[in-house]
Amino acid sequence: MEPVHAASDFIREIIDEDLRTGRHGDRVATRFPPEPNGYIHIGHAKSVCLNFGIAQQYEGTCNLRMDDTDPAGESLKYVESIINDIRWLGFDWGDRLFYASDYFERLYEFAVELIKQGKAYVCSLTPDEIREYRGSFTEPGKDSPYRNRSIEENLDLFARMRAGEFADGKHVLRAKIDMASPFIVMRDPIIYRIKREPHYRTGNKWVIYPMYDFAHCLSDAQEHITHSICTLEFENNRPLYDWFVDQLIDWDHPQQIEFARLNVSYTVLSKRRLIELVEGKHVAGWDDPRMPTVAGMRRRGYTPEAIRRFCAEIGVAKKDNLVDIALLEHCVRDDLNDTAPRAMGIIRPLKVVIDNYPMGKTEEMSCPNHPQKPELGSRKLLFSREFYIERDDFMEEPPKKYKRLGPGREVRLRNAYVVKYESHMKDAVTGEVTELHVSYDPVTLGGLPEGRKVEGVIHWVAAHNAVPCEVRLYDRLFLIPDPAAADTEDFLSLLNPDSLEVLSDCIVEAGLRDVAPGARYQFERVGYFCADLKDSRAGTPVFNRIVPLRDTWGKLAVK
Ligand code: ATP
Ligand code: MG
Repeated sequence: MEPVHAASDFIREIIDEDLRTGRHGDRVATRFPPEPNGYIHIGHAKSVCLNFGIAQQYEGTCNLRMDDTDPAGESLKYVESIINDIRWLGFDWGDRLFYASDYFERLYEFAVELIKQGKAYVCSLTPDEIREYRGSFTEPGKDSPYRNRSIEENLDLFARMRAGEFADGKHVLRAKIDMASPFIVMRDPIIYRIKREPHYRTGNKWVIYPMYDFAHCLSDAQEHITHSICTLEFENNRPLYDWFVDQLIDWDHPQQIEFARLNVSYTVLSKRRLIELVEGKHVAGWDDPRMPTVAGMRRRGYTPEAIRRFCAEIGVAKKDNLVDIALLEHCVRDDLNDTAPRAMGIIRPLKVVIDNYPMGKTEEMSCPNHPQKPELGSRKLLFSREFYIERDDFMEEPPKKYKRLGPGREVRLRNAYVVKYESHMKDAVTGEVTELHVSYDPVTLGGLPEGRKVEGVIHWVAAHNAVPCEVRLYDRLFLIPDPAAADTEDFLSLLNPDSLEVLSDCIVEAGLRDVAPGARYQFERVGYFCADLKDSRAGTPVFNRIVPLRDTWGKLAVK
């Protein structure tokens, strides 16, 4: 696949204009700021591609910053997963990995500075009172009775908050802006709260933690970010972002730009919900191949190229929308069609015996590794009297258009002989077909004599050295396209009960016996498969179906 360059969009237009006017000199500095309280998902991947992609395109920089100012739920395990996943996506931050928690001291100083400017105060209202005083969209707020505390008193109380003299929730530090502002975020927002909770990096050093709105913009400024790209839900917070920066920063101001969050059909992209799926064991973990996480998609067998391509295709919008998951699958299929070697795999095997093929005889059949790419070479597959085909490649009473085996029919075995139906056996109790007998025609190996036609071509694996394996088939995680918007409290009831099907009696060709975990193949006529990164072992491979062969995106796109 060719390298993907995203088309221009409104963010790149802003940057072009800024470079023209010299608003930030000739610098372009972005950042990706995940909170390490979960694994990153395809929505984060979009933001990663956007921020790192812009830095690459404009020869700027993109920092990776752990936005870890709220100890609740944050952990090193998540930091490690985020680092690993962004690397795997193909991006590099050089030595620019930062932690907002490294700025705790600096942020404290910024808060002290605000107090000294008379622009912050310690408020001792209860959380309920603060909410009540805040007013609403239609009503202005009311000043807190603590709003006019002296600078000295505020400095003293804030220092004592830090020193741990007060119980959680007893006081907060608030910016002193305007309780009548039409922007509710500007009504004296809280900037520090007391919270006795150990932080995964700073331990028990701090009992006060800065709020997101305060920490985020000042962390951006600290890192000399020029364009702080975030999702639309922060649009209302932009005046506050600018206010803090205006009061405290005397160098180049970072500029917040919002874009629409990515939503993908048949899944959820809220960390809270993903955590619920993991903790409730509704999936096998963050890297369950059904999860929309980067780790899940990697384990499923998606390629980083395909994910980057998808992110470039969907572009950047100003309005929320729901992207069809079929587009993501289309990008994966498109990439794999090009890159995945072909192999023979039978996911629901039916045994076949060639009555007129000599017992004990074997032959080697040459099979191309990629039909369109002779440079990928070929391999030899063993052919013998007994082999397996896909159960649905035989029907006792096939309809006219059926292109496979049935009574009175002939098919070609791919890269081998033409075989003709002779008889079949059935289980007396279940009625299931248990074995098929055919005859072969030795003259058909290289091609067909003039004028002779067969129904179709099917794939096969010789019984002689077939490798038994497990195959896991995945379907949509949720039953409906937009579970996040569903009118139900119980989003778990919308989970697709058939999202995972495990087939334990599958068969692959001999060469895949010791397949490396993570290796991807097209099993001819069946789909794309990836040897599972965790469970596949030499001798006992386990394959995940990445995507079936049939592309539903083309069809949707022309509608
Ligand atoms: P939550 O899922 O609880 O809303 P979050 O997704 O915002 O949390 P963060 O770790 O704060 O989690 O996100 C890091 C960055 O990724 C932010 O800049 C955020 O705007 C961006 N981001 C998160 N979700 C999406 C999404 N669905 N589409 C695009 N960008 C996203
Ligand atoms: Mg967030």
